[in-house]
Amino acid sequence: MAEQSPITPRAKDFPEWYQDVIRAADLAEPAHVIKGAMVIKPNGYAIWEKIQRELDTRFKATGHRNAYFPLFIPESFLKKEAEHVEGFSPELAVVTIGGGKELEERYVVRPTSETIIGHFFAKWIQTHRDLPMLINQWANVVRWEMRTRMFLRTSEFLWQEGHTAHATHEESLKETLQMLDVYADFAENVMAMPVVKGRKTLNEKFAGAVMSYCIEGMMQNGWALQAGTSHDLGQNFGKAFDVKFQTVEGKSEYVWQTSWGVSTRLIGGLIMTHSDDAGLICPPKLATYHVVIVPIFKNDAERAATTEVARRLAADLKAKDLTVVVDDRDERPGAKYFEWERKGACARIEIGPKDLEKNSFAFKRRDLEKKEFVPMSGGVAHVLAQMDAMQGDLLRRARAFRDAGTKRQDTWDGLKAQMEGPGGFGSAHWCGDGKCEAQVKEETKVTIRCIPLDNPQEAGACVRCGRPSQERVLFARSY
Ligand SMILES: [Zn+2]
Repeated sequence: MAEQSPITPRAKDFPEWYQDVIRAADLAEPAHVIKGAMVIKPNGYAIWEKIQRELDTRFKATGHRNAYFPLFIPESFLKKEAEHVEGFSPELAVVTIGGGKELEERYVVRPTSETIIGHFFAKWIQTHRDLPMLINQWANVVRWEMRTRMFLRTSEFLWQEGHTAHATHEESLKETLQMLDVYADFAENVMAMPVVKGRKTLNEKFAGAVMSYCIEGMMQNGWALQAGTSHDLGQNFGKAFDVKFQTVEGKSEYVWQTSWGVSTRLIGGLIMTHSDDAGLICPPKLATYHVVIVPIFKNDAERAATTEVARRLAADLKAKDLTVVVDDRDERPGAKYFEWERKGACARIEIGPKDLEKNSFAFKRRDLEKKEFVPMSGGVAHVLAQMDAMQGDLLRRARAFRDAGTKRQDTWDGLKAQMEGPGGFGSAHWCGDGKCEAQVKEETKVTIRCIPLDNPQEAGACVRCGRPSQERVLFARSY
């Protein structure tokens, strides 16, 4: 009996495919009883834990320490930074009653923590000796969303937010760009997701920042995903929260701040970068399951023999820090194969009676078609080498896709045709005028994802209005 695939093909309906992969891999489900919220299930949370571990190590290596600030923020705090409150007001959840009584001052559930952290920075920072202040928080935040998509946009999500204060703008800008590099390195070397580092246009920047920087990945449907942001806050929050320090010369000055964050949205990016019509594909560095070993048997004697060898091999692989499952359930092998493909196990090993005779096993990587036969003696080394190879191959494949989907466009018709057709990144000139940018967005839903860093300077004409331009920007549909 043929296995009915529970997954809608990507080519047929990409958003359906995305939901199906999440369900088939048992990563998460919509909460339903709470509008716009989701439950992250153990298979999905295990990926988040690995993301956290990798990032946390990098944050600490760059001098940051973790702290935790309250979930509730006095409403008045948000109002202290005009642009910040305007940007976040439409998506705030507000607490008006506590302990059965109407609150004197309403609390907002944090949409981000610049304001409350600014309040405490003002208490903690007195002199230049207290700087730089390098803090990170792992937390949940709430942004009331009308249209939600699991992992990509939910009313509550998990993230980390870095908050730092510095004595000079030179230092805070260096920090902003350093953390952008940390994110880009993580995206490429752990998630195997190539990203473009760039700065946002003023229309797209964080509410309250002087300049926002981002990393943008290209998903398999040609849409962009903003995977992380790092903000140069200038002295905006320093002034709003009166965060002053005494300089070496004895003068009183406002601090220069940064904030930077990535969220569980990364898991959405991971799915849409690598997975296929059979289910989840996950790079080994983040995979919940590395190897599944399926013993093949027709009777009890064969079952005992193959399972014993499977368990021994599993123990050897576990000793190398791989997550291994021996699937000896009473179930057809084919059904097991499909299930573990859906769940994104990086590789499958089959051990049957014939393999025992030959002292070998069958090995199949999740991202490749071919199955190979591997001698048991070099088995562990082979699997380890293949995990490394898979990590590298996924990045190369994703980069080739991204590069092929990035096209230089010199006419509005050309850009429009690309965006209405295959999508991807359209590299085109833009005059720098926010109104022109807004017009493009209104007409096509396409936005400027970023102005790539290290962009070559070249004279050109804005693809929309024809006015002069000095550099190209990346246009795309985006999540
Ligand atoms: Zn223009």
